[in-house]
Amino acid sequence: MPFLPFYIPGQKQLKIVIVGGGYAGIAALVTFLRHMPDANITIVDPRSNHLKITHLHETFRYPLEDFLVPFSVLENRFGCRHVRAPLIPQELTLRQWQNDKFLTVNDEILEFDYLLVTSGSAVASMDKAENIFDLHDFMNASGFALMEGLPETSGKGGKGERFISVIGGGATGIQFLFEISHFLRRRKIESKLRLIHAADRVLDQFTTGFSTYTQARMSELDIDFHPNTRYQEQQADRILLEESGTGRKFDLPSAMSFLFLGKKPETLLFANAFGQVMVEHEALQSIFTAGDCSIYHSLGSHTMTAQAAVRKGKLAARNILRHSGSLKLLEPYLHRDLGYVISLGPADAVGWLALEGNVVGGIPALMIKEVVEAQYDLLLTGTDTYVI
Ligand SMILES: Cc1cc2nc3c(=O)[nH]c(=O)nc-3n(C[C@H](O)[C@H](O)[C@H](O)COP(=O)(O)OP(=O)(O)OC[C@H]3O[C@@H](n4cnc5c(N)ncnc54)[C@H](O)[C@@H]3O)c2cc1C
Repeated sequence: MPFLPFYIPGQKQLKIVIVGGGYAGIAALVTFLRHMPDANITIVDPRSNHLKITHLHETFRYPLEDFLVPFSVLENRFGCRHVRAPLIPQELTLRQWQNDKFLTVNDEILEFDYLLVTSGSAVASMDKAENIFDLHDFMNASGFALMEGLPETSGKGGKGERFISVIGGGATGIQFLFEISHFLRRRKIESKLRLIHAADRVLDQFTTGFSTYTQARMSELDIDFHPNTRYQEQQADRILLEESGTGRKFDLPSAMSFLFLGKKPETLLFANAFGQVMVEHEALQSIFTAGDCSIYHSLGSHTMTAQAAVRKGKLAARNILRHSGSLKLLEPYLHRDLGYVISLGPADAVGWLALEGNVVGGIPALMIKEVVEAQYDLLLTGTDTYVI
């Protein structure tokens, strides 16, 4: 068995419940089984599949099924159990679970020694018209299938008559924008694409090098850009917008719109530097958290990224194992992101490597992205190639 510093195992095989089988949950699962192959692990997740969500924009090229791993496959592969249900842990419930050491799901009592909450961040649900799509839609259907709902061009016909709008120029919106643009070209669909973004430049959470590179590619692909513009609502085949600053309201034709307004955790849990959930300044000894739903009181990276989720998931698992042993010496979360790459369609990407100002574009960025995705695919098979 691989060596885990400061872990002196006790006799007992642990019962562990993981709430949420996404990136952080899977990273934790693999880490547990590496050091305690007989651990009794239950994943509670409302979906029937693990979703490789970082590939979702690629469903304009590949079917959604390519990015789904049924939990039944993971059950067989890892000898764990999947219970299909949502759990929304509130502070009061967490205290209760800490005292009881069990929780009830689908009328079944699940006993645990440790509970790990990794339920990610939810996309806000909203009432929306038939021609508006958001991440929820992409979690249930491939991008190319959603495009089949694109209405015919108006009587006048011709390019420029029909617009498709992408709203949100953050990392997710940009990845979808470029995939849609390539999809339209590949299928020779006559439609003009535009991006609506509330800030003055795309990818404004990154250094300006990201925006300059991406906006230049957008111009080459003839994508209209409306900066400093806020989306209000879609009405039939028009979108209502508001200019930031002046507050001027206006509308534009849009046959189909894609909303990428960001995600926010349904459950946000605060944790100490070791990943133990804090409730009223007290660490719950047997309840840990990781991934997008967690904020650790530590110097480590808090970006809502797959790499931070994987690192937190692995750390929480290591600390649970250590906590169950006789030394109980835990490791603080200090992970710093090593880079971040955003894909710009099938053949281009932009990102940073090592230092945030070190912007890389084109093939080198694309290759980094592929290595990162391959590393996660290996983790899903049980092979952990992450250095830490
Ligand atoms: C389109 C897209 C592209 C992205 N691309 C990248 C990228 O290229 N690189 C990168 O680093 N990051 C990327 N991200 C961000 C990254 O995917 C997330 O940061 C990462 O998935 C977070 O992992 P997680 O385990 O916290 O949550 P998730 O991976 O979202 O998993 C959460 C799990 O919890 C389950 N769940 C939800 N609610 C409940 C509940 N109430 N009870 C039980 N289970 C529940 C869900 O079904 C899901 O299985 C992307 C995100 C999106 C949306």
